[in-house]
Amino acid sequence: MPDQHLSQTTEPLDATAPGAGDKTRPSGTALFDAVVNLCKRRGFVFPSAEIYGGIRSTYDYGPLGTLMLRNVKDAWWRAVVQERDDVVPLDAAILTNPKVWEASGHLATFTDPLVDCRSCNERSRADHLETDETGAPVCPHCGSTDLTEARPFNLMFKTFVGPVEDEASVAYLRPETAQGMFVNFANVQTTMRRKPPFGIAQLGRSFRNEITPGNFVFRTREFEQMEMEYFVPPAESPQWFAYWCAERLSWYSRYGIPEAMLRLRPHETEELSHYSSGTADVEFAFPWGWGELEGIANRTDFDLKAHSEHSGVRLEYFDQASGERYVPHVIEPAAGATRTMMAFLLAAYDEDEVGGERRSVLRLHPRLAPYQVAVLPLSKKPELAPLTDEVLASCRRRFVCERDETQSIGRRYRRQDEIGTPLCVTVDFDSLVDRCVTVRDRDTTAQERVPVDDVVAYVAERIGS
Ligand code: ATP
Repeated sequence: MPDQHLSQTTEPLDATAPGAGDKTRPSGTALFDAVVNLCKRRGFVFPSAEIYGGIRSTYDYGPLGTLMLRNVKDAWWRAVVQERDDVVPLDAAILTNPKVWEASGHLATFTDPLVDCRSCNERSRADHLETDETGAPVCPHCGSTDLTEARPFNLMFKTFVGPVEDEASVAYLRPETAQGMFVNFANVQTTMRRKPPFGIAQLGRSFRNEITPGNFVFRTREFEQMEMEYFVPPAESPQWFAYWCAERLSWYSRYGIPEAMLRLRPHETEELSHYSSGTADVEFAFPWGWGELEGIANRTDFDLKAHSEHSGVRLEYFDQASGERYVPHVIEPAAGATRTMMAFLLAAYDEDEVGGERRSVLRLHPRLAPYQVAVLPLSKKPELAPLTDEVLASCRRRFVCERDETQSIGRRYRRQDEIGTPLCVTVDFDSLVDRCVTVRDRDTTAQERVPVDDVVAYVAERIGS
């Protein structure tokens, strides 16, 4: 089989390729509305339990959202765990001993300041209120300035473990995944024979009873986090903090967010959490302004010391060779998977014109797109089915693929563009003769003829890592 197609140098698809449509790309509220609308219409994100009227700011991930969210988490996993020697994974329980939250400070301090409006009885976050011309804070629901004093509101969801609902059976849904990694420090360090610097990484659901959730999946009460605790010798913590800030910022660009939409914002001293000696947020230019995607914190030895004191179990590193003993400091990059997925969608959404027709296109990084490949028989005629099946079977071993055979080929290309599928492979009647298929590129709409036996290698080269 001639190798001419593979011998061409093909760059991996550039997810940020501006395409013809840059000038017409919506922004601000129009962009937000377009993405939220697309998410619902194309099966990315649905309001939770919609048939019952939903539940405020809670969402279910549809088929395409499930695939994409998984890709976001896989991309993080590859960069933070799989491609490294020094990070090991963990999957800790969501419900755990409540003493964990006492030691971590969450029971006492994981609060937001809350005010009640005496006019409409709505509750709001005191630190998110706008003020009127006299400087008085204003209720965002009814505009009244008749508000109560701010008081702390704990964000942890409380529940009961077992059949008796009393104080002794109280438990909390974890508000972050981090503590599972601190309490397992000694288990992981000894079973995996690790010496600092090393990290423990975890992906999973967290729950916060947010007072003012909103902006679609930006702030929800149930969300997914991607966190890593990197344990280092205390003297090395400043350099590792700088290292992880740079590393994590570059991950977002690597997966297609233009640099102009990203920034690293160091926290002011008064903003720092109780455990942190330095924090910087990776922020994204959301349609309403800059918002956090990930916080990178130097948590010092706060957590290991707190859990040592509360549990009575020493959590430290002992170097047998040198006799050195110390409590490692911790650098924590903590990201949100669901919020980050939304940022990738906002950055990727574009509108342009192809062949005189308007199209919406998600210029997602190929690894984040729900499907990497769509296989399209030119018609539903049975003659095309065996070769279509063959192409699909070979592509499916490596990529997530969709078969789409209804409506005109142009309509099908548009449909795939709108959900971000980077490559469409079309099986036509010539394919039965020359065993070649047409591969079409989402961003440039350029088409290339590729031998069936080379399709998998061709796609792998085009989509990169
Ligand atoms: P914010 O200031 O936005 O409330 P945070 O500083 O409390 O966030 P962290 O505790 O640092 O957030 O959590 C790490 C990451 O988890 C955040 O950067 C964000 O991406 C994600 N995250 C936190 N809270 C939520 C939420 N309610 N909904 C969705 N994602 C969230």
